[in-house]
Parts: sequence; C-alpha cells; structure tokens
Amino acid sequence: MSVLNKSAHELASMLVSKEISSVELTRAQLDNIDKLNPRLNSYLTVTHELALTQARQVDELRAKGEKLSALAGVPIAVKDNLTTIGIETTAGSKILQGWVPPYNATVVEKILSHRMPILGKTNLDEFAMGSSTENSAYGPSLNPWDLARTPGGSGGGSSSAVASMQAPLALGSDTGGSIRFPAAVTGTVGVKPTYGAVSRYGLIALGSSLDQIGPVTRNVLDAAMLHDVIAGHDDMDATSLAESLGSMTEAAKNDSVKGLKVGIIKELTGEGFQAGVSERFQEALELLVAAGAEIVEVSCPSFQYAIAAYYLIQPAEASSNLARFDSVRFGLRVMPEGAATVEKVMAATREAGFGAEVKRRIILGTYALSSGYYDAYYGSAQKVRTLIQADLAKAFEKADVLVSPTAPTTAFLLGEKQEDPLAMYLNDIATIPANLAGIPGMSLPVGLASEDNLPVGAQFLAPARQDARLYKVGAVLEKLLENKWSKSMLDFAPKLEVN
Ligand code: GLN
Repeated sequence: MSVLNKSAHELASMLVSKEISSVELTRAQLDNIDKLNPRLNSYLTVTHELALTQARQVDELRAKGEKLSALAGVPIAVKDNLTTIGIETTAGSKILQGWVPPYNATVVEKILSHRMPILGKTNLDEFAMGSSTENSAYGPSLNPWDLARTPGGSGGGSSSAVASMQAPLALGSDTGGSIRFPAAVTGTVGVKPTYGAVSRYGLIALGSSLDQIGPVTRNVLDAAMLHDVIAGHDDMDATSLAESLGSMTEAAKNDSVKGLKVGIIKELTGEGFQAGVSERFQEALELLVAAGAEIVEVSCPSFQYAIAAYYLIQPAEASSNLARFDSVRFGLRVMPEGAATVEKVMAATREAGFGAEVKRRIILGTYALSSGYYDAYYGSAQKVRTLIQADLAKAFEKADVLVSPTAPTTAFLLGEKQEDPLAMYLNDIATIPANLAGIPGMSLPVGLASEDNLPVGAQFLAPARQDARLYKVGAVLEKLLENKWSKSMLDFAPKLEVN
C-alpha cells in the first residue's frame, strides 16, 4: 500500500519508528498534489519549499531524540480563509488576491508548534459563502469520486484534497456546514467542534457567532488527534471557552455503544432525502442497534425555520465583517474613472473584488440590519435561534447524541444549483441547526448510495461541550462499517484517472 493511502495515525507511528521520514512523506504528498491538483483544483497555493523545510526540521529534531507531539511530521492542508504568515491568503476572493498576512491564525500557530508541515492553502467558496466551491474566484474544486460533481462547500478544497490523498489531514471552517457537508459528499470525516472550543483568531470571519474551525480527515481517530492539536483556550478570541473539553483521542478509542441513546431527528429523515442516502443511513442505525445502542425518536419542530433564520443572521454578520475590505487595509485597490474620492475608490474596489454571492449577502444582511427592519428580520431570526436551542435541549434530555443524514443528497453536479441560490441554501437543512445552537457535529461516511455509487454521510450531534461523545459513537460506527466501506475508499485515489 502506498504511503499516500495511510491514515495520519499510521503515518505518525511510521515516523516514530523511523520507517519513513517526514521529508519522504511530505515529498510523496507534494508529488501527488502536483499530479492531481491541476485537475481537481483542491489547492489555491501549494507551499512546496516551506513544507519540505518544515519536514526537514522535524526530522532533525527527531534524529536528536527530541520529544515530539503525536502528529509531528505529518503534513496538513489549510483552508485558505485561515491566515498564514508569508503565504498568500485569499479566502477564495479576488479582493484578497496577493494578500500575504502578517500574522498566523491561532490554529496555524498550533499546527506549526506541533511540527506539522503545511502543504498549502485549499480552495473555498468566496469568504466561505456556498456549498459547492463554485463561488470561488479561482474556479471550483472537483469531487474525486466523479469529476463532474462538486466536492461540497465551502470547504471543497480541503475535502477533495483529503479524499484524493493529496493530504492526510486538513483544516476547515464551518459556519453552516462547510466542514460537514464537503466531508459527506467526499467520503471523509468532518467535525465542527462546540462553538468556542477552537480559537477563531485568524479565521477570516464570515458569521462570527456561527464560525468554528475543525478537522477534515479520512477516519475518526485522525480527526480526534487533529482536534486535540487545535482546541483550547486562546486569549486572542473573546468567545474562546475557558475550560478544556478533554481528550478526543481518548474518546476515539471507545469500543462500545451499549446503552447509548441515539435520537433520530424526525424532521431530518424521510421525505426530501435521496433514497440511497436514507438506505445507507438506516443501515448504519441498524448496526448501532445490533451493537447495543438504543434508538429513540426526537422532534425538533423549529428546524423548519432554521434555513430562513440562518440566511438572515449569517448575511447580517457577514455584511458587517466584510466592511473591512475597503481598498485601504487589505488586498485589491481599483481606481475609479475620473476624480477619485475615498468613497469612489472603495466602491470601485468592492464592485470589482467581490463576486455575486458575496454582494447578494452584503445587500441582504445590510437590509436585515437597517433601522425599521431590524426587529422584523434580524430580531425574529434571533428568536428562532432560541427556539432551535430549546428544541435541541429537549431532544438531548431523551438522547445522548442525535443523528440524521448530513445532507439530503449525494454530491450534486457542478452547475446544478449555481443559478438558483435558494436551492443551494436548502442543501444546508441538516447542518445549520448545530451552528445556530453552538453545538458540535460530526459527519461520518456510511457507504455509497446504490443509485449513483457516491458517498453518503451520517451526521451526529452532541450537546455543547460534549464533543467527546461524537468521537465515541463515531469510532464504534466506523469499525462496524469498516469492511464494507473503507476498503473501497482507500483503494480509490490511486485509480483516479487524471487527464
Ligand atoms: N453553505 C453555507 C453557506 O453558504 C455554509 C457556509 C459555511 O459553513 N461556511 O453559508
């Protein structure tokens, strides 16, 4: 088996036993990126030299016998809305083309301090607005399972990179599903931690009350190990949780779901879900039951308003966050025709630098926040948010974790929803409630849909601060599914025909 197919934790042990060096491993990854990326467009920037320098450094430290952290030497891809010193950071937008940040995001500092070489920056929908990467100013990423389809969004660069063995690990950000949905449609594992569990410092803000950074990997233990690297309090983020939520790596070693109460969310099953998605989802539940879990049904009636509430709150926050792109402080500056005033330069720059979806949301958000409309739109949406939190709190009285398919369908075709923003928004039905409530969620691959042979994801949700529960149930279900599923997935990338 090629080194590319190995999981991060296997690679970590190979590094420890000196079966392989970080330089060899990183070089193998970079070679695969050079082969696949021109077609898949997973990375916007590949940092060949930097990655190899970092790999060489960690190899030297290991040779000296220095004590290194668990993932030291394992390379990683970073979503391009996380700031990186010396590496262009665009957030998928033309307005930030050429911008090289003077500071690292806290999560980037953390992966560097754990000595994980950075392979590059992955593609995303512009400012993480979207579900397909088609809103990226640099073209969409392709789904390695079927090159005519989207790898999901906004973090489709990270998901397609990890699924096609262009990286063993990646970082994503999830405001309404941008880690979990791409994971579901590429057969990878994606986790959105509890709000505040991972510092947002250096994440280019989309919806500040919704955003969370999390892992994208090929298995549950890898996600847990990466989660442990990036989590923890940070003085630079005022919403960062003070306390530690424990070791996810330990949780991922769990081997029993006996007595675990798994709540099926009534509103997120059945009608509106692709038959093959429901089929794989039901099968996964049956496996959990056979292993001793108890299934209960829960109802979250307010979920019917989740999309409407999210698509007011998120654009409202985005419209305010994106005001900083003013042609003065960052990136692009476009001079207007005729006499230039500050306002005219700003307008010309924002007109040229932002794409259609970003403009749509700035207009929507500004409208929702404007005086006279605030109560009717933003205020009402915040009330819905409270109702959703109450529904979830009630559901968690009956169940330890909640479960649903991550998305209504498998990967859709590029172009299929691009002309219809509403259809794109509806895709987020199952993922958005977790962001509105601040709770953690995991998408886990549960097999291939029979009608199209494309990956299906199941989403687990846990109460705030109980992220460990996701890893406990995820680790067991992954094992139960192992023979059926992960083999086909691991065999898959080397067969990818790239032309
Ligand atoms: N699809 C959602 C949106 O467009 C989610 C985005 C995200 O999580 N960054 O807003």
